[in-house]
Amino acid sequence: MLFSSKIGIDLGTCSVLVYVKGKGIVLREPSVVAIRKGENITIEAIGEEAYRMVGRTPKDVETIYPLEGGVISDYVYCEKMLKYYLGKTIGRTLFAPTVCVCIPCKITEVERMAIMDTCRNVGAGTVHLIEEPIAAAMGAGIDITRPSGSMVVDIGGGTTDIAVISLSQAVVTGSVRVAGNTFDEDIMRYIRKKYGLLIGLKTAEEIKMEIGSCDTNPAESELLSMKVRGRSVTSGMPREIEFTSREVAEAVYDSVRTLADTVREVLEKTPPELASDVTEHGIMMTGGGSLLRDLDRVVSEVAKVDVFVADDAISCVAIGTGRYVDSLGLGGRRTDGQK
Ligand code: ADP
Ligand code: MG
Repeated sequence: MLFSSKIGIDLGTCSVLVYVKGKGIVLREPSVVAIRKGENITIEAIGEEAYRMVGRTPKDVETIYPLEGGVISDYVYCEKMLKYYLGKTIGRTLFAPTVCVCIPCKITEVERMAIMDTCRNVGAGTVHLIEEPIAAAMGAGIDITRPSGSMVVDIGGGTTDIAVISLSQAVVTGSVRVAGNTFDEDIMRYIRKKYGLLIGLKTAEEIKMEIGSCDTNPAESELLSMKVRGRSVTSGMPREIEFTSREVAEAVYDSVRTLADTVREVLEKTPPELASDVTEHGIMMTGGGSLLRDLDRVVSEVAKVDVFVADDAISCVAIGTGRYVDSLGLGGRRTDGQK
C-alpha cells in the first residue's frame, strides 16, 4: 500500500469494530482476551475464539474484558487486542495509518494519553480521538454541524451515554451504568428467584436477543416464549422451563425505568432552545442495547419525546469514526480549522 490508510475504531466494552476508508467495516469482534495462567501468562485466544470460552474456562484459563464502562481497564491486554486486530485489518503498510478512536465524554487527560499511546504502540501514525456521542450521531446520519440540538442515546454493553449535540459539540451529557449487560444480569437474577434455576450470562443474553421485550402487558398475539435450560438451585440437576417475553419485560423493568429517567433528566437540564429542538426532531438511539424490543417506546413515554432507533444501530459509532477520519485532509490533518 503506497499511501497511508485511514482507520476508525470503535473500542467498545462488548465489541471492537474497525472501519477502513474505502472498505467500510472490516472487523467486528468481541472485546475479549483469554489468558492461560501459570509461571508465564500466555494468551490463549483473542476476540471471537476467546468469547466462545466465556463461562466455559478451566481453572487456569481466564477471560478478560479489557474495557469496562468504555474506559480501558486493562492496558496490557487492550494493547495486545488492538495490535492483533490492527494486524488483521491492515497488516504491514509503508506509512503508519491515521487512526481515529472514539472515547467517552467523561474521560481524564491521563486516560486520553493512554489511549493515544496504545494506538501509537501498535503502529498508528496520527491519532485522533472523537467523543463517542459525536461519532454515534455522525454514524446515525445526523448533521452535527448545524446550530440545532440533537439528542443521541448510545446504549452499549456497560453504559448508556446520552448527549445533546449542537455545532459539532456535546453541550449537555449524561451517563448511567445501565445498558445491555444489565438486562442480562436482570434476566439471570429473575429466573433464579422465580424458578430456582441457575443460568449463565450468555444464556441470559440469548433469551434477551431471541424474545426480549420491555412490554409488560403485551397482546396475546405479541407474546413470545422459548425453552430455557439451567441447573436447579436446590437439586443441582438440569431442568427446563418455558420463559416468556412478558417475564423478560418484568425482569428488566427497573433497569429500563432508570435508563429512561436518566434520558429525561438530561433533557430537563438542557438549555431551552436546544431542548425544544430535541422535542421537535426526536431522540436518536444507537448501540446494541437499543435493539431491545419496545425500549424506544418506554423511553419515549417517559421523556415525552419521539424516539427513533438508528439504522444499523450497533455499527453507528464505528461508521461515525470512519466518516470523521474520511473527512480529514491529507496526512490526517483536520480540514475544519480546529486542532
Ligand atoms: P459496546 O459499545 O459497549 O461494545 P454494543 O453497542 O456493541 O456495546 O452493544 C452491546 C450490547 O447490545 C450487548 O449487551 C448485547 O447483548 C446487546 N445487543 C446486541 N444485539 C441485540 C439485540 N438484537 N437485542 C437486544 N440486545 C442486543
Ligand atoms: Mg459502543
